[in-house]
Amino acid sequence: MAVGKNRNAQLVIDEDAIFHNISEERKRLDSKSDLFMVVKANAYGHGAVQVAGIAKAAGATGFCVAILDEAIQLREAGFVSEPILVLGLSDLNNVPLISKYNVSVTVSSVDWIKQAAELAQKLGLKNKIRVHLALDTGMGRIGLQTVSEVKDAIVELKRTSEYIDFEGVFTHFSTADSTDDDYFQYQLDNFNELMTAIPEKPRYVHVANSATSMWHKAAGGNMVRFGVAGYGLNPSGVAIASPFKLEPAMSFTSELIYVKEVQSGRSIGYGATYTSDSREWIGTVPVGYADGVRRSMQGFSVLVDGQYCPIVGRVCMDQLMVRLPYKMPIGTKVTLVGTDHDHTITLQDVADYCHTIHYEIACGYSSRLPRVYR
Ligand code: PLP
Repeated sequence: MAVGKNRNAQLVIDEDAIFHNISEERKRLDSKSDLFMVVKANAYGHGAVQVAGIAKAAGATGFCVAILDEAIQLREAGFVSEPILVLGLSDLNNVPLISKYNVSVTVSSVDWIKQAAELAQKLGLKNKIRVHLALDTGMGRIGLQTVSEVKDAIVELKRTSEYIDFEGVFTHFSTADSTDDDYFQYQLDNFNELMTAIPEKPRYVHVANSATSMWHKAAGGNMVRFGVAGYGLNPSGVAIASPFKLEPAMSFTSELIYVKEVQSGRSIGYGATYTSDSREWIGTVPVGYADGVRRSMQGFSVLVDGQYCPIVGRVCMDQLMVRLPYKMPIGTKVTLVGTDHDHTITLQDVADYCHTIHYEIACGYSSRLPRVYR
């Protein structure tokens, strides 16, 4: 998708906000503890390479990504020696690349370890394959589930240690951002039980995403996989207060590119779902669902020169229309996320309106929107 450099529509990323959020979290951690900034999915839409640089300056000691290509992107952008952990599972075909780029990967089966070691031996790979063992304590996604599976994995990791570096073990909590702790505790108990099968702990033992680190510090571990809070977003939405002030980093701005007065009874947009009931001023903004502005945003109010104006009619692929309080000039600033004058629209507001979570909104802004760093 072409980047819309010649259109006035952009995501503005506040570098200081990201720096602030990560350094505040860093202050809460033990000095020996590692903080890996989670920069998967283009750093939740904020720009992986730029965020990685800011995170490093703020005290992050490594990075987490979801897929191998995201790790390679960081290596090729100059992060040549920082640990990078791929949180998703990697195909065995990728073992040569994993070794070449010296990244750490998540493993979830004994067979993978066995076959990766065989490949590494056969191909004479230079770097050992660094692995983190995933333990499924109740997320139900990936990972070993029983003590006996973990014991088998440990035997295999010992047997293949010439080719495989057993670098870490981790789990992922599914309700760390909830006000109800019961399921969290259930997962933690499972984790502690599974860990009895690993008497010699690897370099990294990690259980914490943002929510776990913020609200369940006692869960332990020596590395935090810090994601959404680094971008200034509360993992719980609004349910639980953050232990430090989160500064949201992402704003989304554009402008009016067309303004007209319509007569009463005039319909706007596909499906003619909105009809003016008096003479109205309508402005057109050059962004749409191809940029990640959901169709379900119809009726949501954005800020036009700092004043709330509703989106009228359906959001089109590349444009949307707003009802203005009066004639406003072409070029007037439109804020879809962020602050203008005394008003703020948060990603949480957008997520609430679309019945989803802010993670999905931030990740959903497409590559057509340039990211501008300030
Ligand atoms: N760890 C794992 C395994 C994840 O999948 C994620 C994100 O989905 C994170 C950490 C970061 O979570 P958060 O963004 O809530 O901090």
